[in-house]
Amino acid sequence: MADQLEFDWQLSGSGWATCRIADASAEAKYVVSYCTDPLADLINGLAGMYRPEQVERVSFDLEPVEIRWVLRGVATGVEVSIYRFPDISASFAAPDADGTLSWRTSQRRCSLVHAVVEAAQTVLREHGEAGYKARWVRFPFPAAALQRLRQLHLLDDKCDQLHDLSTP
Ligand SMILES: [Zn+2]
Repeated sequence: MADQLEFDWQLSGSGWATCRIADASAEAKYVVSYCTDPLADLINGLAGMYRPEQVERVSFDLEPVEIRWVLRGVATGVEVSIYRFPDISASFAAPDADGTLSWRTSQRRCSLVHAVVEAAQTVLREHGEAGYKARWVRFPFPAAALQRLRQLHLLDDKCDQLHDLSTP
């Protein structure tokens, strides 16, 4: 199982965010729109990985491309497969196999969740809740979902990486 993971979330314009994920072998970058609430959906999807053998799907709207994350819990790891569909309005109910595999990794749950929690907290530190809402427009910062995921991570993953516990 790969053990190097980088995840980054940047608010890049009004209602747009740039999401970057990379492991030791490849990186993927998506410019995601506010038609859905992608950061909240990803955080909630990851929280599902604390139930055994869970599969969660999270769709990013790239207007019109759909980027679909399939998160599959395996023992203490998560398999991440990201599929690309040309038009979200047509693919919303389509099976994963109809998409093109865009990126895939297999990670310890601890590494994956740690990276996403830290990135989300960095966004909050940079912009604050009011600044986030002003830029993201349609949805507030997912503070409660992030807090819940961080609690699951701290309790169940025995994370030995540094956490900044001063921010919510
Ligand atoms: Zn951690």
